[in-house]
Amino acid sequence: MKVKIEKIDHIGIAVKDLEAKIALWEGILGIKAGKIEELPERGVKLAHLHVPHSPTVELVTPLNEQAAVARFLAERGEGIHHFCFLVKNIESAFKELKKKGVQFVQDKPYLGAGGSRIIFIHPRSLGGVLIELKEEKRQKGKLLRRPIQRVDG
Ligand SMILES: [Zn+2]
Repeated sequence: MKVKIEKIDHIGIAVKDLEAKIALWEGILGIKAGKIEELPERGVKLAHLHVPHSPTVELVTPLNEQAAVARFLAERGEGIHHFCFLVKNIESAFKELKKKGVQFVQDKPYLGAGGSRIIFIHPRSLGGVLIELKEEKRQKGKLLRRPIQRVDG
């Protein structure tokens, strides 16, 4: 079986000051950010800038020093952090890619922004590029949702 990539969902940009960078991107490019979302289990806070007919731009900042994106910022500074591909079924994509020897950052798919399920492919498996796989939140069905702490921005 092959993994079916549906589209690029978003491009992740690592930033140090989320609110300041939202204002910068909105001010310079005129693209509007959605709500700021805090994901304590991932140690990040993020917001999506909505680009017409296109993937969103995800600005992401660490909530603590242990977050992977904190290490990224310390080592490389602000900039492009990852691309996210949308898949229909993340569990089957995960299993399929594991069989091919692809290495992942996490042990299994977990809760991402907006109730989605995500997992990151390790950059060493894709030529130095960090790739996120995402399955959108299902309206009904078997996906379990834990509450997400929301912060108005
Ligand atoms: Zn992302």
